[in-house]
Formats: sequence, structure tokens, C-alpha cells
Amino acid sequence: MTVIDLVSYEDALASFDPVMGLEVHVELGTATKMFCGCSTALGAEPNSQTCPVCLGLPGALPVVNATGVESAVRIGLALHCEIARWCRFARKNYFYPDMPKNFQTSQYDEPIAFNGHLDVQLEDGEVFRVEIERAHMEEDTGKSTHVGGATGRIHGASHSLLDYNRAGIPLIEIVTKPIVGAGERAPEVARAYVAELRELIRSLGVSEARMEMGQMRCDVNLSLRPHGREKFGTRSETKNVNSLRSVERAVRFEIQRHAGVLSSGGTIVQETRHFHEEDGSTTSGRVKEEAEDYRYFPEPDLVPVAPDPAWVEELRASLPEPPRVRRNRLREEWGLTAHEMQSVLNAGALDPIVATIGAGADQAAARKWWLGELARRANEQGVDLIALPITPVQVARVAELVAEGTLNDKLARQVIEGVLAGEGEPDEVVAGRGLAIVSDDGALGTAVDEAIAANPAIADKVRGGKVAAAGALVGAVMKATRGQADAARARELILERLGVQG
Ligand code: ADP
Ligand code: MG
Ligand code: ZN
Repeated sequence: MTVIDLVSYEDALASFDPVMGLEVHVELGTATKMFCGCSTALGAEPNSQTCPVCLGLPGALPVVNATGVESAVRIGLALHCEIARWCRFARKNYFYPDMPKNFQTSQYDEPIAFNGHLDVQLEDGEVFRVEIERAHMEEDTGKSTHVGGATGRIHGASHSLLDYNRAGIPLIEIVTKPIVGAGERAPEVARAYVAELRELIRSLGVSEARMEMGQMRCDVNLSLRPHGREKFGTRSETKNVNSLRSVERAVRFEIQRHAGVLSSGGTIVQETRHFHEEDGSTTSGRVKEEAEDYRYFPEPDLVPVAPDPAWVEELRASLPEPPRVRRNRLREEWGLTAHEMQSVLNAGALDPIVATIGAGADQAAARKWWLGELARRANEQGVDLIALPITPVQVARVAELVAEGTLNDKLARQVIEGVLAGEGEPDEVVAGRGLAIVSDDGALGTAVDEAIAANPAIADKVRGGKVAAAGALVGAVMKATRGQADAARARELILERLGVQG
């Protein structure tokens, strides 16, 4: 184990400017793979979604997935890229068991989209433009599981299992130009870029882009150069940094590590590195291959892709509102402060809230449930809000039941709990658990009578004119009904029974 000398972040930035390059892979949500008809559904038996094409059997011929190309063009357009009039796939040759063809079908010097940009908004509202070099089409690899070792890595494993269900799933790789000028905000810019890109991908409907499920994965390239130096330093490439927080941490760590090496007179080797979630560190992977190691050549089995310019223009015209523009519009419509909107975004609650409003809830109620009870539960379970088994329509129904007085907030929370527990629709949970507010005078009257009988001293105070003391009796009624009484009606009945005016 080599000891890594880190320089403090402040000292690193005092001497060096960071330069970053972000490579993001997005798994498209197409129904079938990029070059064959195999299903892309998750969770199937290993190797059940394979065929001669994605297994690379001799003589099998690939066919391009049209939806995959369309998604690539839409991503390119949304990133303000130029779209190639004509481009080809290329074979990236390497031998590794996760790619049974012994090459990955990718694009090399003829990407479908190139020269774009994405504007990202930083925490303080400043907008930073990230230049995009290219977005190209390729395919995912299979998945290896190394068994018998302590770490799950190949070292120390006794054998490996291979699942080719993922081999051939369409990927779009989006590569930035070197990102310069971010200075000490480099980690924040990197995170904001990946977050913005994820929003963009989701807004296009081409992928759910769930990083925790590997649908979006980021490689972080980083180098340092002394202030004032034009030429870039040697980069490291930290692979598979798979959460927003990890992207931020990886950039920060690599800045400190590079500065440590450079300040002590060492040289950075161009290599890939592994990121470690536990402590945010990186360790050396393999020395970087050069492009020529892959012996790229144009794929002879696939026809070139030549998007019709008229079709490209149609796609351009049908792009959705960019996420940043939409966010700013909704913030104004809802009358939120920048800070309130930030909480919505941090919680991943924007789309659920919009959908809940779409299902009939008002903005404040939708925001309250998603940012309150549901965010708390998602947090407890360590999952994204959208992964909770409750739909915006169901949340809207809960809000409606509160608005019409059938539920109070406490009961509504129990209904949400029931929906999450799989007890059915909100109305079914209300019925099944007997949760509706008790406001009919019969049932409530009995509870009121009992509360008065059990608290004669308090009842006397109320009779004597201390109306405020009635609160204790309302409390007793609420307790007896396990929170289900209509508190306002209970109070009216109490005062009526005790012969005083409210
Ligand atoms: P590779 O396939 O070797 O990783 P790519 O061109 O796909 O190369 O990606 C390299 C990424 O790193 C790009 O985002 C590029 O802008 C960026 N990059 C290139 N040179 C440097 C450098 N010296 N420092 C930081 N980033 C760099
Ligand atoms: Mg790379
Ligand atoms: Zn297949």
C-alpha cells in the first residue's frame, strides 16, 4: 500500500488550477438492445436476455436500434450539439470476458453529436457553461461478479460469474471538453454538471438516469497546472463515480492528491483510478491505454447512420423546455424563494410535486407531503423519493382527503404509511384501518360525554366561564379516539354540553 500525501484543499488551490473532463455514460431506456432484439428489462435470470448477436456468435449480424439513434440525436440537440450528417460505428477491440464479441461497438472519430454546451447553475445562482466535446452511441458490457474473495474484486477471487443480459444495452457517452476556470469551485461545478445532465436526460424521457442503479455513470478526469501555465498537466481518470456526492468528493480528493505529488517534485502518471465510497479516496487502477491500443476501425457489419436533416429539425422543434428554464419558471409560478426551490431540488421532489399538482393537489400541499413525510421516509430507507412505492396520484388523493376534512395531518400520515406498506389506494387504507375523522355527532358525542365525566374538575372550570380549559377536554377526546376526532366539532360539542358559548 503506497501512502498518499494529500495537500490541504486550500493550499492546492493556492498553487494550482484544476482542469476537469467528465465522461458520462447513460443507459438508454429502450425496450430492446442497441444491435439486437433482446429485452433490456432489469432483474431477469442471468443470461436469459441474450442472442447470437449480443453473444458475438459467428455469423450473427447486428441491426441498429432506431429508437437508440433517435435518443442520441435528441440528447445531442438538447446539449446544443451539431448533429453529424453521416457517421459510422467503430469497433473498439479488447479482450475481456464481459464483452463476448471481443470488441465493443462504439463510435470513435465520427460521433453522432459534437460541439455543444450545457449551462449549469451553481448554488449561488451563477451560471457556468460546460463545453461538450461529443456525445456518441455505444453499447454496455456484460456484468462480471467475482466470487470467493473478500472484496468482490478480481484479486483474491476463486472464480467469476458472467451475466450478458446487460451486454448490448444502448449507451450514450457524453464527453466534456476540458473544463477550465472553475478554480476552487471545480468540485461544485462537476457535481452541478452531472446533476443538470441527469435532469436533462430525464426531461427527454430517454432514460431514468438513476445513478444508484448504474443507469448513469461518471468518469472523472482531473489534472492540475500551476497558475499562469497554459499547458495542461497529466490527467488521472477516476472510473465509475456513481453518485453526485461521489463526483464532488472524487474531484476534491484528486486535486489534493495531484497537488501532493506535484508539490513534492513527483510526476503524475496517466492512469485510471478506483473511487472508494467509504472514505472518498481513490487508488491506482491500470496504466491508461492509448486509443491505438484499441485498434479502432469502422464497423463493417453496420450501415452508416445518416440522419435526415428534416427529421433532425423535427426533433429539435419538439424538445421539451430545458430543465433550468423550467425550474426558474416553476419557482416564479409557485412564489418560492431560491432557497425553498433548492430544498425541493435537493430532495429530488420537483417532478413528483409537479405530477401531484397535475393530479389535482394544490402546490403548498403537494410540496408539504413530498418534502415532509415522504422525504423523511425516503431518507430513512436510503432511497430516492421517486423510488417510494407511492404515486403522485395517491399523494394528491391524500391531500384531497385532508382538504375535504376526512383526514387530519396525523391520520394522513397513517394513510401514507398504509399506501407505502402495500395496503392499497388511500381510500382503501382509510377504510381498512378505520382512519377517517370521527365527526358524526353520535360517536363523537359519546367520547365527549366520557371525557367530561372523567374530568369533573376541568368541566367545572369551563362551566364557570374558563373556556380555555376546554382544550384539555378536547385533548381527552382526541386521545380516546386515537387522534381521529374532528377537533373543532368536539370542542363545539363540549361547550354545548357544558352550557357555555364558544
Ligand atoms: P479517454 O477515452 O482516453 O478517456 P476521452 O477523450 O474520451 O479520452 O476523455 C477524456 C476527458 O478528459 C475529456 O472530457 C477531456 O476533455 C478531458 N481531458 C483531456 N485532457 C485533460 C487534462 N489534461 N486534464 C483534465 N482533463 C482532460
Ligand atoms: Mg475515458
Ligand atoms: Zn441479443
